[in-house]
Amino acid sequence: MKNVYLDSASNTSLDKKVFRAMKPYLSSSFCGNSQSTHDYGVNASIAISNARELIANYTGFLTKEIYFTSGATESNNWVLKSLALHELYYEPTKKKHIVVSSIEHASVLRCCQQLEKMGFTITYVEPNEAGIITVKNVKKALRFDTLLVCVMAVNNETGVQNPVNSIGKIVHQNKSLMMSDCTQYLSYGDGYCRLKDKMPFVDYFTFSAHKIYGPTGVGCLIARSRAPLYPLLIGGGQENGMRGGTSNTAGIVGMAEAYKLMAQTSYEPHFVMLYDYLLEQLGKKSIPFKLNATPTHKNIISLNLSYFMRDSDLASLFANYGIAVSAGSACEAVSDAIESKPSHVLKALHLPDYEIHNTIRVSFSKHTTKKDIDALVRVIETLYIKAKEI
Ligand code: PMP
Repeated sequence: MKNVYLDSASNTSLDKKVFRAMKPYLSSSFCGNSQSTHDYGVNASIAISNARELIANYTGFLTKEIYFTSGATESNNWVLKSLALHELYYEPTKKKHIVVSSIEHASVLRCCQQLEKMGFTITYVEPNEAGIITVKNVKKALRFDTLLVCVMAVNNETGVQNPVNSIGKIVHQNKSLMMSDCTQYLSYGDGYCRLKDKMPFVDYFTFSAHKIYGPTGVGCLIARSRAPLYPLLIGGGQENGMRGGTSNTAGIVGMAEAYKLMAQTSYEPHFVMLYDYLLEQLGKKSIPFKLNATPTHKNIISLNLSYFMRDSDLASLFANYGIAVSAGSACEAVSDAIESKPSHVLKALHLPDYEIHNTIRVSFSKHTTKKDIDALVRVIETLYIKAKEI
């Protein structure tokens, strides 16, 4: 049985061109630490500067606004915690209120739980019935002492896009700061990668390389010059003294190449074609299903099979049939398996637990084909026939 990968919102495979760009920096001739003054170090430092320039070109930002991190988790933690610590211990402005959407990634939500223990008040904004965080609901949550608002651009379980720029506009009118986790947003490529023009009212942008065919363990934080940012990881003087730790030269080179490739191509038509095909095939086989939300980004689909499935671990069941999908977000899945906690995103959509447990997240990459969809539909059909026989 051939394995079919439909979990690209968790991880994408490394693009061959990205690997080629990284390869020299994984070999002995480019072994230098970018902080060293000998040729090896200087070469690493040049490679990092070039990577920063590449990302600056394709995002529209200045190189000094771009910081390399270990991934979106670190970038999200960096913004939230550095602003919070500054507020608590360095220059208090009496702004100890943070607004976050209740459907953020765990790297935002769990961070906020820590900040609550440090004396911050957090307001969690719920999505509307379509899974969207609306301007109106964020507006209601804003206070005179709101320091920061965090709303992700595209949700990693539903594919629903939030109006983050319009939210940013009212956040600015309130004299607060706006962060948007763009990790899943970039997967459409092309114009979506021009973050500066797309979202002028957003101050902080975060993302990871491994969702856009880059390497794992590297990510980015873009902080506009107008927005404050303080170091969180203190160490050597890397990243202009803002983020200590020996730079991941090969990873950074790979991320820049991956970003460049994404920005040069639109994957929207490919994803829309696959999405339409999946729904059409499920319809043709008369398989009862519903989508927990209508995705704006058609490469992330929350497929609810609870009309006929009564299982508690659908992702493992599909894996037994050679189909890799996710129960919710993959990063949540590990801890959730231990705690057996249903997805907080689907909970926020007010789905009952049995529907959440019988939902799979199907996510496409640029490599996904109609044949992959056929394989998925065959398995769903088999499960449907089995369920009818019981
Ligand atoms: N934010 C979102 C929206 C994500 O989908 C993910 C990865 N699942 C992250 C943050 C965290 O990314 P990383 O694990 O690369 O730090």
